[in-house]
Amino acid sequence: MSLVPSPVTFIGTGIMGSRMAEHLIANGHPLHVHNRTRQKAEALLKKGAVWHDTPESAAAASDRVITMLGLPSDVEQVYFGQEGVRGILAAAKPGSLLIDMTTSSPRLAERISQAAEERGMESLDAPVSGGDVGARNASLVVMVGGRQEAFDRGVPLLNQLGKSITLLGPAGSGQQCKLVNQIAVAVGMVAWCEALAVAKAAGLDPSMVQAVIGGGAAGSWGLTNLAPRALGADFNPGFLVRHLVKDICLAHKEADIHGVRLPGLEVAWRLYEILKEAGYSEAGTQVLFHHYDTNRGVSKQ
Ligand code: NAP
Repeated sequence: MSLVPSPVTFIGTGIMGSRMAEHLIANGHPLHVHNRTRQKAEALLKKGAVWHDTPESAAAASDRVITMLGLPSDVEQVYFGQEGVRGILAAAKPGSLLIDMTTSSPRLAERISQAAEERGMESLDAPVSGGDVGARNASLVVMVGGRQEAFDRGVPLLNQLGKSITLLGPAGSGQQCKLVNQIAVAVGMVAWCEALAVAKAAGLDPSMVQAVIGGGAAGSWGLTNLAPRALGADFNPGFLVRHLVKDICLAHKEADIHGVRLPGLEVAWRLYEILKEAGYSEAGTQVLFHHYDTNRGVSKQ
């Protein structure tokens, strides 16, 4: 069933959000946007989106509010407000549907859900996988937590951003699933970087190796989409190193709560912390290969 275009608010127009919001404009929704740095919303404004100076003003402009922020602290601030500045929860209309697509904390998603219900609103945590490529192609995998009725209301909109939209359980379950996803992503990054570093050191053509092994049992999203960027020395983000470190911390904390030890994730964590300290916070996560390439393994620094 096609969705009748109607106003949508989008807060957080960074690497992912700007591309996702474009699909909403393309599908005819009048779009209201806010971002901390206005300049990152300019492309959307040129396509007809309406700018708002604050989350408060943006949230009051429609009854469907999507957020795609960076860190849990950003989500906390934008939803609950800060220092006399009202957040989404205080400003949105009763009956609004609030969808947070940031990779954030499951506990925070539960708090947002409770606060939304107290104010007669519905909320979903709906983080995504599929990277900047998935955001551009509207082929994201969306992992949702929340009530069935809120999910049913949100699905037609989320279908315009992703290819797979799944309700995992109550509030926080989408974030739990995303953190599980990030454990596989982080450990997988180490795997393909090490494999291609050895291929190169052994005198094989690493691009040829990437193409060959990518079609077999070693195949992965990272090997297909990020390894070619790494081999071409393109370390632009994609997915920021500092966001992967944020996700690793969140995932490690959750695993701790459930009593699961993650030695593989701890290796990835150590390597990415070294990259952060070396000044690569704003680089794409594929920069890990650069360090194997130049230092024959970051752990030897
Ligand atoms: P990003 O480029 O840093 O975008 C986040 C945006 O949120 C920025 O434009 C930032 O504003 C804005 N923001 C942060 N705090 C704000 C506030 N208080 N008020 C208004 N705007 C605020 O990051 P991204 O790559 O799009 O990722 C967004 C989220 O999706 C992250 O949680 C990330 O872990 C997750 N994710 C990313 C990918 C990926 O491949 N990139 C894939 C899946 C999931 P500024 O412009 O001022 O910084």
